[in-house]
Amino acid sequence: MCVVDVRRRIVQANTPLARLLGKDRPSEVVGQALNRFLNTDIDKVLDRARRRRAPVAINLRTVPRIGAGRKVPAFIAFHEVNAGNPRRSSAVVVITPRAFGDHIATTSYSQRLEIALDVGALGAWGMDLRTGEAWRTDRHDRIFGYTQSLPRWSYEKFIEHVVPEDRGRVNRTFEEAADAKTRWVFDCRIVRKDGETRWISIQGGFEDDAQGAPKAMFGVVCDITDRKRAEEQVEFLAYYDSLTQLPNRRLLDDRLEHALLHARRNGRLGVVLFLDLDDFKSVNDTQGHQVGDEMLVEVASRLRDCLRPGDTVARFGGDEFVVVLEDIGRNSDEAVASAREVAQIIRTTLLAPYELSARERRHTSCSIGTVIFGDCQSEPSVLLRQADLAMYRAKAAGGNTVRAYEPEMQAAIDTRVALERDIQQGIENDEFVLHYQPQLNLQDNTIKAEALLRWQHPKRGLLYPGEFIPTVEASGLILPLGRWVLQNACQRLGEWRDIEPMASISIAVNVSARQFHAPGFIDDITTAIAQFGVDPRRLVVELTESVLLDSVDKARAIMAELTVRGIRFALDDFGTGYSSLYYLKRLPLHQLKIDRRFVCGVLSDTHDAAIVHTIITLAQAMGMEVVAEGVECAATRDFLIAHACVQQQGFWFSHALCADMFAHYVRANPFEQALAAGSADP
Ligand code: C2E
Ligand code: CA
Ligand code: CA
Repeated sequence: MCVVDVRRRIVQANTPLARLLGKDRPSEVVGQALNRFLNTDIDKVLDRARRRRAPVAINLRTVPRIGAGRKVPAFIAFHEVNAGNPRRSSAVVVITPRAFGDHIATTSYSQRLEIALDVGALGAWGMDLRTGEAWRTDRHDRIFGYTQSLPRWSYEKFIEHVVPEDRGRVNRTFEEAADAKTRWVFDCRIVRKDGETRWISIQGGFEDDAQGAPKAMFGVVCDITDRKRAEEQVEFLAYYDSLTQLPNRRLLDDRLEHALLHARRNGRLGVVLFLDLDDFKSVNDTQGHQVGDEMLVEVASRLRDCLRPGDTVARFGGDEFVVVLEDIGRNSDEAVASAREVAQIIRTTLLAPYELSARERRHTSCSIGTVIFGDCQSEPSVLLRQADLAMYRAKAAGGNTVRAYEPEMQAAIDTRVALERDIQQGIENDEFVLHYQPQLNLQDNTIKAEALLRWQHPKRGLLYPGEFIPTVEASGLILPLGRWVLQNACQRLGEWRDIEPMASISIAVNVSARQFHAPGFIDDITTAIAQFGVDPRRLVVELTESVLLDSVDKARAIMAELTVRGIRFALDDFGTGYSSLYYLKRLPLHQLKIDRRFVCGVLSDTHDAAIVHTIITLAQAMGMEVVAEGVECAATRDFLIAHACVQQQGFWFSHALCADMFAHYVRANPFEQALAAGSADP
């Protein structure tokens, strides 16, 4: 395809045409007379064709790159524009090599042109820059919303259709292209005659006069609204949540970044609210995800309704939403007050019942964490973390509340992270030690030991489990540390094996629920036993009732496997959990340990005395040993002996001792002193 001017000079051509004419690029044929490539005068042929109303068939004399000229029979279709005015007329020419052209010779040339333009959905146009007059195809006008071709068209008319916001850019593009004499292409929005806004893409180029000044423009235009919509859809999906139509995390980051900049420049404070629905999981679990989704959509719409148009509300993920409010105050008192006010409005708005497709009306509450920004340098990710932290505090306080972020919240986290790092180091540097607290059997004068963990901290001195075990359990470090305890206790048993009187000592090791349920637990124990040649009957594993929370069957299976190998189990802190007879009966337990909270009350509290008495009876009835821990005085000792609990542990006998001191204690045969009269200082 090419466009020729009134003198039949090619002003624009596409690549296939250039190839047909023996060139590589359109620029090599532009400016040349079309006649050069034909073996007849084009005008004469056209006249003849017009009279006969037939398509024009002409032999092309193409110029191949190498060698002499070669003839290619071809059909030529002319579409004249401004045909009535021979001085202004120009034409779109479609040249089809005959082999192909034969096939379509039955269609009229205007039909063929129409097809060609249709395929590209292109409207063609040209404009004389001196007179401002323009020619166009019908499709061009249709693109601008005219069902019938307009009598006149001009640059001004075109600009009228361009939406005002795009006009400056369009004008600039034309000016720059004219200066640089380049071809141009741009997209812009137009308002069609029927009022509909559409996206179009226009491309074109200039034709120069003899002095090299642009004298005409030619080009094509097409409607790209569908493509733009698709692009917008892609964009939308990348930045918005498809369920609630709210901005997603990515867009939130962007907005927050801007809000921070804005706050810093203007000295106005803003607030980030981090919001999490309380117990949303139960909606999903009991009503299904469909209902859960409906609720989230409703929450999103209520949030939008609470806010001013410029505020941001984003879905952070799951049932978490983030609200960013700017300009809420000049000083922190003002900001804190309005943040609290908005948070309370949101909280109560979300509290109203939800009419969901499930029959019953649902209620939900939310927990909100807030953090003020703009008073010091901060980053979006830091702010979000702080707001999240405050939200967690609100949740921990029972939900349906608002909490403002305070630096001590971060400090608590920092401390915890530091402690975790410290513990890790401590494991690597061998800073942990086991101390052994004697368990005396006051009937047969034998001794056992409970291994209790101590941390010889390089800076903080000797630390007791209460100061680090909760963190260790929460962080997962309990697995390596628990393994270390098992190994160490077994190593000690191995050392004592050949030394009298230590060879008969057994060691009880505390195992936390998480460690007990970890996949390698059975292996860890059997490996440690094998490694140090330990008699498995010397190892007692102390469990608390928390190991049963998961499933009694699962716990029983693990215990059964180890029991077969000779290891014994004690149930620690008995009486403090939900101590059910049901599982007592089902588990292979060797021993019950009465919790020291009951033991220390036996003399003063009749309930404690009754509980202790009952536990002892229970253990005996079920054929289990019973150990009382926390015996601090002779009177307690005597109470227990009177109730047939002869295995006792507590400060009355001894604190936990390092291994050497413990061996010392055992050799000193402590029973006489243990049974001494009450006034003696333990
Ligand atoms: P627990 O298993 O109940 O251990 C008994 C705790 O009671 C020990 O505290 C012991 O020092 C203390 N105690 C013993 N006799 C008396 C007494 O007469 N009066 C009073 N008031 N207390 C007495 P400790 O060593 O501070 O250990 C605290 C808890 O830390 C242990 O409670 C146990 O749950 C946990 N723990 C200790 N070592 C380990 C370990 O190696 N692994 C795991 N997972 N937990 C451990
Ligand atoms: Ca214990
Ligand atoms: Ca205990």
